[in-house]
Amino acid sequence: MPQPYDIIIIGGGAAGFTAGLYAARDRCRALLLERFSAGGQVLNCEHIENYPGFPDGVAGYTLGPLLQQQATSLGLELQLTEVCAIQRDGEAFVLQTDGGTLHTKALIVATGSSFSTLGIPGEEEFVGKGVSHCAACDGAFFMDQPVAVVGGGDAAIDEGLHLTQYASHVTVIHRRTALRACRLLQERARANDKLSFCWNSVVREIEGDTGVERIRLEDVTQGTPSTLDVAGVFLYIGLTANTLFLGDLVPLNANGQIVTDLWMRTATPGVLAAGDVRSDSSRQLVSAAGDGATAALAAIRYVRTGEWQR
Ligand code: NAP
Repeated sequence: MPQPYDIIIIGGGAAGFTAGLYAARDRCRALLLERFSAGGQVLNCEHIENYPGFPDGVAGYTLGPLLQQQATSLGLELQLTEVCAIQRDGEAFVLQTDGGTLHTKALIVATGSSFSTLGIPGEEEFVGKGVSHCAACDGAFFMDQPVAVVGGGDAAIDEGLHLTQYASHVTVIHRRTALRACRLLQERARANDKLSFCWNSVVREIEGDTGVERIRLEDVTQGTPSTLDVAGVFLYIGLTANTLFLGDLVPLNANGQIVTDLWMRTATPGVLAAGDVRSDSSRQLVSAAGDGATAALAAIRYVRTGEWQR
């Protein structure tokens, strides 16, 4: 059997790379596995203004590679591969990946979350043809055309504002009349002439021929149907934790998030979780990084001393 890693981290977002940075600085043999590209959710953000140390904000596609560069320059190994299954092997863990089998003493799950979907007709059919979860990637395709954004959280309002740079008009469709988004984003949205709100409304269907042409709406207070002509629909209705591949390795909460204690430890000795994927995460970039540091410190202690409970 090949020499096991001390710590394998699954997921290359802020949580994963921060964990990797701490593990590498403490001279652990640490490997980070990422299935797409470094950065995670931040890669979808054009402008991040709530990560400390960047007074002018920073683009997600700038920050992602910086996270990677900082951790790998300190000795973190990186493999672009997807983890398919994980088994326990005594005190250690065996990971089946696209690239082969890996062994580790401790595991930090930092796989983040994916955008939730509405499950309505037309949603899946028009992905890449008008339906999107990424204003930074797809916004420019809708130059001078009307688009809709669905949701009332930070992501919907932030990305809706970003879309006003391209679209002729942005309609934010929200199922009630109070937004979840932070007040600063709300103020900006209300001051923007190119953005308006469609309150108390849900999308029932996305329609078009070769691409999105219109959405069918329903007013949830009256049950009244209506139609809105749009070329694009950006869906920001929350996030779903990426935990499916874990099987029954660790207990999950009712939302499919990994249950941890304050040191990011799960009920399974040797397995930790950090960032959006864990229960009670505040789902902020900065707290994901903090989780990553905490998880790494607890994992290092476990690998070196075997101590799990503090
Ligand atoms: P979120 O805060 O969970 O908001 C999701 C929104 O979608 C809510 O307004 C919710 O309505 C609505 N919604 C949920 N299910 C729906 C459905 N089936 N139909 C219609 N509407 C539905 O999600 P998020 O905006 O993606 O943000 C996730 C986390 O990332 C948050 O912690 C957020 O702070 C963070 N984030 C921050 C920034 C930033 O700071 N710039 C940017 C992106 C994300 P209700 O309000 O009625 O529940």
